[in-house]
Amino acid sequence: MALCKTEAVVLRSIKWSETSRIVTLYTLGFGKLKVVAKGARRPKSQFGASLEPITHSAVVFYRKEGRDLHTLSQCDLIAAFPKIKSDLSTLTYASAVCELMDRLITGEDPNRPLFRALVETLGGIEGGVAADAEKFLWRFQLHLAAFLGYRPEFGTCVRCGAALEGAKVAFSFALGGTLCERCADEGAKRHLIHMGTAKFLFHLQRAHPDRVRALKHSSWLAEEIRPLLKKFLATHTEDHRGLRSLDFLEQVKEVG
Ligand SMILES: [Zn+2]
Repeated sequence: MALCKTEAVVLRSIKWSETSRIVTLYTLGFGKLKVVAKGARRPKSQFGASLEPITHSAVVFYRKEGRDLHTLSQCDLIAAFPKIKSDLSTLTYASAVCELMDRLITGEDPNRPLFRALVETLGGIEGGVAADAEKFLWRFQLHLAAFLGYRPEFGTCVRCGAALEGAKVAFSFALGGTLCERCADEGAKRHLIHMGTAKFLFHLQRAHPDRVRALKHSSWLAEEIRPLLKKFLATHTEDHRGLRSLDFLEQVKEVG
C-alpha cells in the first residue's frame, strides 16, 4: 500500500455508511479512481467542502494495487468554483462535463492533457458569463472525443480533404467529419448541417478559453449542435444515454 499525492477534480460523491463517502475523482497522476473518505459525513469532518462534486483539490490517498477502491487520507481545496455553483445553468453545464468524464473515461490511466482540459473547462465556465457555459461544454465534448481517439473534422472533407462548399454540408458520424459534395453523394447515410455550424465548431475546437466568448452563434445553430455532438459521442462510445444533467435543465425550462 503506497501513500500517493496528486491533484484531483471531484466528479461524483455518494454516501457510504453512516459517516463516510465514496468519491469518484479524476486525478492528474493516476487517472480516474474511487476513494473512500472515512468520516466525511461527520459535521466537523477534516475534508470540509473539498469533496463536493465540481471541486479541484489536492489529495493524498493510500493506493492499494489491484483494488478499485482506495482510502483518502487528506484533501485540500484548490478551487471550489463558487460562481458555477451559484447559478443553475452554469452548474448544469459543469455537471454535464463531470458526468461525461465519469461515464466515458474508465480505469486508472493518467492523461495529463485531459486533466488540464477538464480544469481549464471548469475555470472557463467559472470565469465567464452564464450564457457562454454551454459553449464550454461543446468545446469539452469536442476535446474529449479527440482524447478518446476520434477527433471530429469540420474544416475540410474528412474523406478526401477537399474544401467544403454550399450553404449546407453533409456530416458523417461514422467517418467523424464533414464531407464534400462528391464524397457525400457516394455515401449512403448523410446528415446535413449548415455551413455556419461546421464553421462554428471548427473555430470552437481551436479556440483558447479566453476566445470562447467572442464566438457567437444563433439559437437555431445551438439546436443543430446539441444533437450532433450527442449522436457523435454515442456513435463512438458504448454509452448511448443522454446526459442526465442536461435532461434536468430541460425539465426546469419546461416548468419555468
Ligand atoms: Zn471528399
